[in-house]
Amino acid sequence: MPKSEAVTQVKQALLANAKRAYEIRLQTGNGGNLSGRIPGADQIIIKASGCSFDQCTADSLVTVTLNGEIVAGDGLPSRELATHLLIYKLRPNVQAVFHSHSPWAILCASLDDAIPTVTLHARSKLGRIPVLKLSGESTTANLPAIEALLTADPNLRAFVQERHGIFSFAHSIELARYNAELVEETAQIAWSMALREELALSPERDA
Ligand SMILES: [Zn+2]
Repeated sequence: MPKSEAVTQVKQALLANAKRAYEIRLQTGNGGNLSGRIPGADQIIIKASGCSFDQCTADSLVTVTLNGEIVAGDGLPSRELATHLLIYKLRPNVQAVFHSHSPWAILCASLDDAIPTVTLHARSKLGRIPVLKLSGESTTANLPAIEALLTADPNLRAFVQERHGIFSFAHSIELARYNAELVEETAQIAWSMALREELALSPERDA
């Protein structure tokens, strides 16, 4: 049984970061999800399905075991629970997972094979930002590819799934959100640079 203070701390951190992500439009509407590991217990707390980041309360969070059994909370855990659980299984040091449907990252991931780490900050903090091509529309269809990606690169901190969004993971939910922000910012800069180059090369420019 996890200590109640630990549970409260994880919930407060998740709610604060969900609200912040919504405020800066890293996630709009009711998409996206986030979770945190409860220290000292084989359990995580994850946002319930269908709840918007800005409307989340402690009642919109669900506690599940690392095997996916619901322990506490109303509602159903996010439909991307299986992805979160896989990341926790493959990364014992990861304490939090953040996922958002951020537009610039989705744009880049849907057209390219990686988000170019065009800034020094992105290069030093993330190293690389691979794109995961969809194996299917269901969460489970994509799990083998996610496992292969994380297994191949022990230093990976984030990836973007085409036509879907960012997944980032870290030792705290704050850092996972920061990394997701950095992915989105990097995608915006990379795409803007590519567009600038395209326009500069366009014959219409001198017409
Ligand atoms: Zn999603």
